[in-house]
Amino acid sequence: MLIPFSPPRIDDKIIAEVSEALRSGWITTGPRTKKFEQKIAQYVNVPRVVCLNSGSAGLELALRWYGVQEGDEVIVPAYTYCATANVVVHCGAKPVMVDVREDFNIDVDQIKAAITDKTKAIIPVDIAGYPCDYDEINRIVNDPEMKSKFQAHTPEQKKLGRILVLSDAAHSIGAEYKQKKTGSLCDLTVFSFHAVKNLTTAEGGAICIALPEPFDTDEIYSELVTKSLHGQTKDALAKTKPGNWRYDVVEPGYKCNMTDILASIGLVELERYEQDMLVKRKEIFDSYSSVFSQYDLFEVPEYESENKKSSYHVYPLRIKGITEEQRDLLIQKIAEQGVGVNVHFIPLPMLTAYKSRGYRIEDFPVSYDLYSREISLPVYYDLTPEMINIVIQTILSLQGDIKDFLNKN
Ligand SMILES: *Cc1c(COP(=O)(O)O)cnc(C)c1O
Repeated sequence: MLIPFSPPRIDDKIIAEVSEALRSGWITTGPRTKKFEQKIAQYVNVPRVVCLNSGSAGLELALRWYGVQEGDEVIVPAYTYCATANVVVHCGAKPVMVDVREDFNIDVDQIKAAITDKTKAIIPVDIAGYPCDYDEINRIVNDPEMKSKFQAHTPEQKKLGRILVLSDAAHSIGAEYKQKKTGSLCDLTVFSFHAVKNLTTAEGGAICIALPEPFDTDEIYSELVTKSLHGQTKDALAKTKPGNWRYDVVEPGYKCNMTDILASIGLVELERYEQDMLVKRKEIFDSYSSVFSQYDLFEVPEYESENKKSSYHVYPLRIKGITEEQRDLLIQKIAEQGVGVNVHFIPLPMLTAYKSRGYRIEDFPVSYDLYSREISLPVYYDLTPEMINIVIQTILSLQGDIKDFLNKN
């Protein structure tokens, strides 16, 4: 039996909803997108959500809204998908990388030392769906010493008066930190609905707005929507109202709005997300951990603690004491047995785009250690108990190889 890594859950219900959106005569941003925004806002308990065509667009729009530009710095973890840092580069700013902790998330103790008078934002990433330490991060940016370093250049920066906390929650919709859902834990939070993510719309993303007073959330919502549509003051739906043709373009904006076809997938997925998808994913995590935690050769990930609950996005198993090359050989053997696994992620300093900008993996020892011994196991809705067992037996069949490797090391 071939076991893919992470196929989306596409069933008749989704196909029916998409068909209905297609037949409705409204296929771009319209009523379904607006409804999806409201449903997400209700689910994560924030006043407003803006849907877009990707999570990357959400991160970039948020940075642009805050006026991040050339000469600025944005703190990101070294261990993340490239999107987190790429959007900083798009804005002309410099990603300042910080190493991570054993739970794969940004090392909060190292953030303070990375802050300079150029720092405009921090982008914590909830890797694998496990929330970062938001109270600690919010405490750092509100610390009077850090606030006095902050140099505000735009009206938004003057209003906030401190470093913006922009969460990259591409993995973590539905996860909880101190009984609160991601989306509501810091100033702005971005979800991704890419095909491999927990909640998919094929491609898509959303920005959750939870900025403190005196920010007017409805006003920021309008600003972000306008930015996502070329700076045009009226969207296509508003313009269809008879006589309502006149519009203005207030800035040269971007084009990254979500379509109603995509929103129709998201509406079905969100409806059954908490009670069905998350339950299923947690069962898969529990199945893996109950077996692998019994063996000395394996390290299982942390996905629940007193204050945190994962969204069970990626199951990052680690093998103790092996090298990167040995991990690659193990993945080859797993692939030969028909099981799709992956590595999340190659740390940014190892990628050509960032190596050539002068980042060195030697400066991020924890990121390298996590990466070099990591194998992500399949987690998805349609993974049956029988398939879970095949994955487990495939991994256990590698014990001899692992022991040979360890003897050599
Ligand atoms: C997937 C992902 C993104 C980008 O999301 P897209 O919707 O594909 O643009 C950003 N950050 C992380 C950590 C991701 O895994």
